[in-house]
Amino acid sequence: MCWITVGVSWTTAVNSSDIRNYLGFRWETTPCIVMWNCDYETDQREAVRAAMSEWNGVADTDGSGLVASYLTNYVDSLNEVNWAYFKSSPIARTRFNIVDGYIVDATISLTLMVDWSVGATAGAYDIQSAVQHELGHVLGIAHCHESGGPCSLGSCPNNVMSPTFGTNQVRTTLTSYDITTYQSIY
Ligand SMILES: [Zn+2]
Repeated sequence: MCWITVGVSWTTAVNSSDIRNYLGFRWETTPCIVMWNCDYETDQREAVRAAMSEWNGVADTDGSGLVASYLTNYVDSLNEVNWAYFKSSPIARTRFNIVDGYIVDATISLTLMVDWSVGATAGAYDIQSAVQHELGHVLGIAHCHESGGPCSLGSCPNNVMSPTFGTNQVRTTLTSYDITTYQSIY
């Protein structure tokens, strides 16, 4: 579960016109600490933490930071990383609550209809890679090339925000596309 630091107000819509910004929504003005509940086993939770660390390591253009972290015993109904049953395409999804153009809550779900692993494993999907991709959506980032954004088709499959991902694959290195998109929003 999670919370957002005090002092945020949700009265102003942002609605960025940047096509890389998913639906034009983003979190309120940084600094913003988003706490997550992660109902996973220890090694899986560490994979989630690692995914957060990758995004946390990207510098904001204003330097104030939007930081994801999690508590294992914080209980509210906001910002969960959880398991759910849904058809295996997509294998993961993010749902939002939006208030006045700002994201105020997001839930990342991985489907239990496929096999998951920590690291590359035949027939299974890597948790960190999937969560890192969904966290990109949480930040407001659209899929590369689906958005019409400026990604190079040649390197597109390397982008964390590429819409397709396979089993026995790890994709946890943020590319310049991923990073500059984040920086275009924050
Ligand atoms: Zn996606």
